[in-house]
Amino acid sequence: MRWKGRRESDNVEDQRGGDSGGLGGALGNSVGSRIGGRGGLAAGGLGTIVIIIIVMLMGGDPMQILQQQGGATQQYQQQHAPPQQTSAQEEELASFIKVVLADNEDIWGELMNNMNKQYRYPKLVMFRNSVHSGCGGASAETGPFYCPADEKVYIDLEFYQTMKNQFKASGDFAMAYVIAHEVGHHVQHVLGISDRVHRMQQSVSEEEANQLSVKLELQADFLAGVWAHHDQKTKNILEEGDIEEALRTAEAIGDDRLQMQARGYVSPESFTHGTSKQRMYWFKKGFETGDIRQGDTFKSIN
Ligand SMILES: [Zn+2]
Repeated sequence: MRWKGRRESDNVEDQRGGDSGGLGGALGNSVGSRIGGRGGLAAGGLGTIVIIIIVMLMGGDPMQILQQQGGATQQYQQQHAPPQQTSAQEEELASFIKVVLADNEDIWGELMNNMNKQYRYPKLVMFRNSVHSGCGGASAETGPFYCPADEKVYIDLEFYQTMKNQFKASGDFAMAYVIAHEVGHHVQHVLGISDRVHRMQQSVSEEEANQLSVKLELQADFLAGVWAHHDQKTKNILEEGDIEEALRTAEAIGDDRLQMQARGYVSPESFTHGTSKQRMYWFKKGFETGDIRQGDTFKSIN
């Protein structure tokens, strides 16, 4: 992706330095809407240990955990992590993220304006190890997520390495897709889509709630594609292989792929983010059309 020398967003809170506060309850899950990957879906009534194991094994919609916990935020203990120095490489990644966020501001500001919608820019929090969010605590294990309560995207920069090592998805545009997906959740929040879906999820079975989560996640993938379409059109950001990087990432974090890797079998009723094929399909559809009206995943997920 061509990004150097362009505007960096000011809406970034850097919480990487010093004492960020650790997670007390050892529950590495969080709330908000994630890109997929590690983190927690849990069935009701399960004990903490079982939840932890499931959190480690499956991708999922952490809102469900919040709901089960009655909206209570988790307890924290202060962890006194030694101050860490950031490498030049990490600083470059931080700059990159700020540019991608700025690009998202430009595109969504414009698209929302065209729809006569008031748009509030989301904030992005960079953290290390663990973080307090308006939706509860999160550790780096959670992966990037969006919290509608404080309208912030949370990302641990180590996730870039995780994508490379664990998901075999690498490249700067893979990271751009991840950020755009989380901003996509913010767009869903601003449009009132996610709040409506979360309300619906409270009155249906777990399986149906998971299906709704899949639709929401695929729509966030679609919106990431819409962003890429317009960013390319206005700023000519794409280099050879960039779209393939995003598609490979979407493929790598499909529920079917992750479940197969984690436990050797797949249970579609527990999917919360969609299959690899669906995730690729929706990102691509957003990228090819650039038309937000084409993204009704609630009508059909393809
Ligand atoms: Zn997501």
